[in-house]
Amino acid sequence: MLNVSAIVPLKSSLRGELIEPNDARYDEARKVYNGMIDRRPRIIARCVDVADVIAAVNFGRENKLLIAIRGGGHNAGGLGVCDDGLVIDLSPMNYVRVDPKKRTVLAGGGALWGAVDHATHALGLAVPSGIISTTGVGGLTLGGGLGHLTRQCGLTVDNLLAVDVVLADGSFITANSKEHPDLFWAVRGGGGNFGVVTSFLFKAHPVHTIYGGPMLWHLEDAAEMMRWYRRFITKAPIVLNGFFALMTVPPGPPFPGHLHNKKMCGIVWCYTGPAKSAESTFKPIRAFKAPALDMVGPIPHPVLQGMFDALYPPGLQWYWKADFMRELSDEAIAQHTKYAERLPTMHSGMHLYPIDGKAGKIKNRGTPWSYRDAKWAQVMVGVDPDPANKEKISTWAKDYWNALHPHSAGGAYVNFMMDEGDDRIRATYGKNYARLAKIKKRYDPKNLFRVNQNIRPV
Ligand SMILES: Cc1cc2nc3c(=O)[nH]c(=O)nc-3n(C[C@H](O)[C@H](O)[C@H](O)COP(=O)(O)OP(=O)(O)OC[C@H]3O[C@@H](n4cnc5c(N)ncnc54)[C@H](O)[C@@H]3O)c2cc1C
Repeated sequence: MLNVSAIVPLKSSLRGELIEPNDARYDEARKVYNGMIDRRPRIIARCVDVADVIAAVNFGRENKLLIAIRGGGHNAGGLGVCDDGLVIDLSPMNYVRVDPKKRTVLAGGGALWGAVDHATHALGLAVPSGIISTTGVGGLTLGGGLGHLTRQCGLTVDNLLAVDVVLADGSFITANSKEHPDLFWAVRGGGGNFGVVTSFLFKAHPVHTIYGGPMLWHLEDAAEMMRWYRRFITKAPIVLNGFFALMTVPPGPPFPGHLHNKKMCGIVWCYTGPAKSAESTFKPIRAFKAPALDMVGPIPHPVLQGMFDALYPPGLQWYWKADFMRELSDEAIAQHTKYAERLPTMHSGMHLYPIDGKAGKIKNRGTPWSYRDAKWAQVMVGVDPDPANKEKISTWAKDYWNALHPHSAGGAYVNFMMDEGDDRIRATYGKNYARLAKIKKRYDPKNLFRVNQNIRPV
């Protein structure tokens, strides 16, 4: 236990705020995105710069505190917060700087993707990220990062050029392909295991107005649509990304009243090829089966990025389970349609994110992301605003996952996991685990950073 006087040196060396349990801001500051997580840290250090992060890491290590690193706070397993320990909260480090000539983007360790999209869009650029703009750059990038531009530009980590990191011993280094290349390899999928990343340097792409949005079909067509999708998307030009969803139509605009609360299947498209070829690219899609709702058209890239933000505000109950899939067999499709009929709440769903295209061109050993040869990252997501439905959504997600897991490649996308234990982490990193464990030993031998999908130092 820390006594009050032990905290004084940290207080005097921080420029950012230090929040303790007796502070009026404490309950707000300890909240994370998943309303299911309720942890009570001993101190929250809101770091404004690298010097603050160094002070916080040194303080945590010297006082033997459990340390959680908070980027955007979105991790469903609640890995951005801990009980009794120190939270190194990077949210004040939310700057984004774009260099339009070099097409690079520098983002602070606590930036959110919405801020990156805003800054890059004005200059006709984009960095590949996820599908909800309130997600943190930190956690999403360190786990891999998949979203609307995965087939076109690769994973977020495939566009990472360098990171600045505060290590467990308080030292500060840059890792890129030339300096500390082992660490640079490890942070491209190995999570927050290796240090506190204070800034990320990305390569950006010329993406401005995309042609995309959701297309929905009736649930009775789901099996047929999935069979069509499994062939179509893997053969589609890489300028077209489309993730498959089983979902319930939200009861409000812009959805038409006759579809409200209906369970349906859909694909959320993002086409980044030449505008003049957009209609012809979508012709065979619309011709295969006319969608019951077609919301696809030209939109600014950040509009697609923020399209689902309002549907998924912070504070909902989240429970998800995931796997990588090498194929989508007829047996797997039969299970999908069965569990889609049992979707427990309006916010719950299943997504299949394509990971072929540019992302699939990298070898399994090229980064810690070990399933480059799989075709999809699959996730069953139980979500609801009401804590009373916690069991209902978790049970549905677990049962659904149990039914599909035998059809999977083995591991899961690390950012779509809850706290699922060491075996699951090893399955996820596969043959890359041993190399990660060695690098962990070099940079964090005492496992100071262990509030994450933990890689044990060897
Ligand atoms: C609604 C929702 C939508 C999502 N959509 C996508 C998606 O489309 N694509 C996708 O790939 N993922 C997606 N995710 C998963 C997301 O990538 C992870 O939840 C990720 O961990 C969130 O990062 P964060 O910084 O917001 O989280 P936090 O909870 O702050 O942190 C998560 C983990 O990352 C570590 N970490 C964060 N920042 C740093 C840093 N700067 N230095 C060192 N370690 C750090 C933390 O220690 C912790 O272990 C989504 C999650 C949610 C809840």
